[in-house]
Amino acid sequence: MKEAVLLDTLKEYFGYEKFRPLQKKIISSVFEAQDNLVIMPTGGGKSICYQLPAILLPEITLVISPLIALMKDQVDGLNANGVPAAYLNSSQEEADKQAIFQKIDNKELKLLYVAPESLQFVDRFLNDGKVSLIAIDEAHCISSWGHDFRPAYTQLGYLKNRFPSTPVLALTATADKATRNDICRQLNIPSAKKHVASFDRKNLSLEVKPGIKRFEQITEFLKNRKNESGIIYCLSRKTTEELASKLKVKGYKAEAYHAGIDHTNRSQIQDDFINDEKHIICATIAFGMGIDKSNIRWVIHYNMPKNLEGYYQEIGRAGRDGLPSDTLLFHSYADVVQLQKFASNAKNEEVQLAKLDRMKQYSEALSCRRKILLSYFGEYLEKDCGNCDICRNPPEFFEGTVIAQKALSCIFRLKGSEPISAVIDVLRGSQNEVIRRNNYQELSTYGIGKDISWQHWQQYLIQLINLGYIEIAFDKNNHLQLTKQAKKVLFENEKIYLADVKDEKLKTQTEKASTTADSLFEKLRQLRLEIAKEENIPAYLIFNDAALKDMEKQRPMSDSEFLLINGVGRKKMEDYGYRFIKEIIAFSKEKREKKPKKKTKKGNTLKETLSLYNDGLSVEEIAKERGVAKNTIFTHLIKLYDEGEEVNLHQLIPISDLKSIERAKKELENPSGLRTYFEHFEEAIPYETIKISLKILEDKESS
Ligand code: ADP
Ligand code: ZN
Repeated sequence: MKEAVLLDTLKEYFGYEKFRPLQKKIISSVFEAQDNLVIMPTGGGKSICYQLPAILLPEITLVISPLIALMKDQVDGLNANGVPAAYLNSSQEEADKQAIFQKIDNKELKLLYVAPESLQFVDRFLNDGKVSLIAIDEAHCISSWGHDFRPAYTQLGYLKNRFPSTPVLALTATADKATRNDICRQLNIPSAKKHVASFDRKNLSLEVKPGIKRFEQITEFLKNRKNESGIIYCLSRKTTEELASKLKVKGYKAEAYHAGIDHTNRSQIQDDFINDEKHIICATIAFGMGIDKSNIRWVIHYNMPKNLEGYYQEIGRAGRDGLPSDTLLFHSYADVVQLQKFASNAKNEEVQLAKLDRMKQYSEALSCRRKILLSYFGEYLEKDCGNCDICRNPPEFFEGTVIAQKALSCIFRLKGSEPISAVIDVLRGSQNEVIRRNNYQELSTYGIGKDISWQHWQQYLIQLINLGYIEIAFDKNNHLQLTKQAKKVLFENEKIYLADVKDEKLKTQTEKASTTADSLFEKLRQLRLEIAKEENIPAYLIFNDAALKDMEKQRPMSDSEFLLINGVGRKKMEDYGYRFIKEIIAFSKEKREKKPKKKTKKGNTLKETLSLYNDGLSVEEIAKERGVAKNTIFTHLIKLYDEGEEVNLHQLIPISDLKSIERAKKELENPSGLRTYFEHFEEAIPYETIKISLKILEDKESS
């Protein structure tokens, strides 16, 4: 298949200008009828690897997919792009199934999504040679080595025997080698080409913060994210519910989601989230598998995940559209202990504990987090990433022996019977209920650390825990206690080096400028939501956030400009272009009316006129807006017309005047210049009208 054809199809149906890394290679390999295994992270762009070939291949493409909700989404998305697709699963009525069989017979479908359980229904409609491609999504489900084994998948090995001449494309986001090999073996595609994409998701920022005062930290984080979608992962159902209701009280559209909620409610919550009706989901790990929402802007881990695989998969649900998205993990020792307990009852205890340990190391890292994360997945990053909290504020080490002595002696005075927050309060000489009740203001260590901020103390204490001088008594309400090693610091003057945390870091990198409610992006988002409701499909299937951002930047005001937006294909331009363009024009006008008039620079003067003209303003309005004479604007428009811009000269003058001038042109022999006409009409027709009319007539003659 020629590259130009592939690129045209990509733009025509998906609206994209370029392939992402690997997509083109994979697609070419499909056209060579090879079997392929694709390993790409979530959001990497796997779907296009089979959807695009499906459009160009002669027969139908079968897509095996385990999740019914996801199937429907993909089919809706394809239809919105003008690609005929359907799905078959066990939840459908007989009549719906018959209608689909009919379409298969009539060759009306390019793609058919099928749940593995429903394969038997299509089998009799298809013969070898009648299927151009078999795509198997979430292929790791076939392997018991993977983390999401599904028994129904194990039968898929028969597909290769049944359709021997049809290439198979298996796709997964699971990285580990054992699973990869197992997939190929079980699918009977031993010589499949393997394509492994980088797992680096550069658009995701990484940040870890101590899990203290988590709710305050979350509300701080959410301050400028009112309309953004995000997920907060929690360990327990109880936490999800408490958190959701606290957020609701604060005015956020939040909802809890866990396995204890009945099926109907669960799918309602999921739908509301997909449709941007609910913005925040507080979920146990059960949430997210079945959704493809591309505009999740942030993910918070309220509790620590039990391994880096899970963590990476969960943060990977943010930013699938490639726009910058933020992730925040709360690190807490209480969580570590809890997870250790879970792991120690498991069959593969050792493996689980080792994985948890890596998770903990990541959380406590003092060097680029992305490097650590990717190295876990076998990828080596040459440079530090620049998009994690450590890279943004690399720690500097200093001799902190005195600070450590203050902290340790304070814990000693408190007899190891207070948690971290009370220890800090005593060090800083705070006044509160706990202090008063226990008379802590009498202690010799009360207020000895006034000069250090609360957050700094918190950081230092955590470092002292990591260094092994302090331990947390999880069995005693997380009280801080001294270890044997602490003696060396208190009595033997052992030197301590602490990492300095700059103030900036404490401000949280994820604080961001708010997107104002009256930005164009917000207006376009609203319009998208409106259309989504009318058509009863998820908003992001109409355009993803990246496409809206591009519209905000480019401000397309005509069909041809609209088609240039990344993410706009032909069908979507035809279906939605008009409404989005209208919104953009209205916005530009409104903005201008609000803006104080300013003299534009000479060089831009023509451009300025053109843009106002394109906004649909009349000559009078443009003149008023720009504070210049009407004649000047006429001159501009003629000049623009001469330069080849799309200026409709007819619109600028009354048709009757044009007719009169046309007549006069014939009557007056050898008219010398405009003045002759002007006088001919006894000054009743303005100069500019004459000028424009003559231009039109000249063009008519020469064409
Ligand atoms: P995956 O299935 O690997 O998780 P998707 O196929 O859902 O990823 O793609 C993730 C997002 O990236 C989607 O919004 C998709 O439209 C977009 N995308 C895919 N390929 C391209 C491309 N070549 N250019 C721009 N965006 C793309
Ligand atoms: Zn980094």
